[in-house]
Amino acid sequence: MAPVKVSKICCIGAGYVGGPTCAVIALKCPHITVTIVDLNKARVDAWNSPDFALPIYEPGLEDVVRQARGRNLFFSTDVDKAIEEADLIFVSVNTPTKKSGVGAGFAADLNYVELATRRIATVATSSKIVVEKSTVPCRTAESMRTILEANSKPNCRFDILSNPEFLAEGTAISDLFSPDRVLIGSLQTEEGINACESLKQVYSNWVPEERILTVGLWSSELSKLAANAMLAQRISSINALSAICEATGANIDEVSHAIGYDSRIGPKFLKASVGFGGSCFQKDILNLVYLSESLHLPEVAAYWRQVVEMNEYQKRRFSKRVVDTLFNTITGKRIAVLGFAFKADTGDTRESAAITLIKDFQSEKALVNVYDPQVSADQIWLDLQEASPLSTLESIQKQVHICKSALEACKNAEAVVIATEWKEFKDIDWEAVYAGMNKPAFVFDGRLIVDAEKLRKIGFTVTTIGRPSSV
Ligand code: NAD
Repeated sequence: MAPVKVSKICCIGAGYVGGPTCAVIALKCPHITVTIVDLNKARVDAWNSPDFALPIYEPGLEDVVRQARGRNLFFSTDVDKAIEEADLIFVSVNTPTKKSGVGAGFAADLNYVELATRRIATVATSSKIVVEKSTVPCRTAESMRTILEANSKPNCRFDILSNPEFLAEGTAISDLFSPDRVLIGSLQTEEGINACESLKQVYSNWVPEERILTVGLWSSELSKLAANAMLAQRISSINALSAICEATGANIDEVSHAIGYDSRIGPKFLKASVGFGGSCFQKDILNLVYLSESLHLPEVAAYWRQVVEMNEYQKRRFSKRVVDTLFNTITGKRIAVLGFAFKADTGDTRESAAITLIKDFQSEKALVNVYDPQVSADQIWLDLQEASPLSTLESIQKQVHICKSALEACKNAEAVVIATEWKEFKDIDWEAVYAGMNKPAFVFDGRLIVDAEKLRKIGFTVTTIGRPSSV
């Protein structure tokens, strides 16, 4: 049996991963028809919008969609048709952390993966290669196989691959154009190896051979969790050191620079901050914690759990520093929070540190002005309501005001808190900001992006992560 030559791809899930990933596949493989489907009609409509008002902000994405949409790239809500026609199906649905039930707060909620898998089994009338694109616990492919085989029609065979996505939001398109590696996991049977070869041929259209790694299914699934856990661990490690810097007079930028010179450590991902956010790091570590506990490895679980606990501590520590510095009370004081997205160059707010900070400021009865260049007001209200389910939107709106510019947000504020490293915050007219603020005027740099010395010369009292307050 020879590997199937892929000519039609279906991607279930038109989110932050499915959308950009399969748009790039369509662009790079004009001979393959790619249909990205989603149950969320508003999302699909946005992908199809005539003015390219896409549902995701990602540098370079619009250009990719403009080139491929309507040629060999399609977005649709007709999930069944796309499944039926495809020879390879990516499952790129959300896998959030369970919010309730057994394992709540730790285990991955695999309901969306299961529903998508059942749909494939029900609809398919011919053989398919089914590819896990979602990040899933180790051995999820086994459950998918059981569901597919129990529900398949005669003469339909399903080969399951794991092909986790390593893109980072904000740089998704450049990551997809030249990935560090593409990882494909398969069963080490003749059929599994053939299916792996079929997917490898798709990526070979633009990814160099040596960057396509083929491994066993379980190694592939675990590698994705491991990669995110190691990245998050690095952030928590540097943040733990930032607390020591603040207490001793060491400077975290100098420490990062010094240790990053060690070729075994390397300079990347060593920037201290108010804490990591995003939909993946916390979720994937908790996934690893849950997996470790299920495997009766409590010490391993405790080790990884500490990475998340350190991140929570960093956010709490930062909020407390704001309150302490503003003379131990922020009641009735206006605080400008610059940035709501979890990082720069994305409109994604999932697990954003800004949400925790604003909630802390609300609980201290401060008034909060928020500004973000990419996040919509609707999204901000939704997130703040979710963060405080016992508060009504009206009561939140008495304390929080959404602004159209950084300058507007800082007007009449006592303090500016930088929560997201948007480049425009580095380049604001700080003289104008200072002129509009109440005095003394404070800046809290949660992302280490401003020139603290320059701001001090203007008159600000500046507090940055990883440096003592007086420096
Ligand atoms: P997302 O929430 O943005 O998108 C998932 C989409 O799947 C949603 O639009 C949802 O409506 C759709 N969906 C769910 N069930 C469906 C079904 N049965 N049929 C059709 N559509 C369905 O999520 P995301 O950020 O794209 O993440 C997807 C997966 O990729 C997750 O497992 C995540 O952990 C992983 N991942 C995310 C990133 C990232 O940076 N966001 C990076 C790497 C991996």
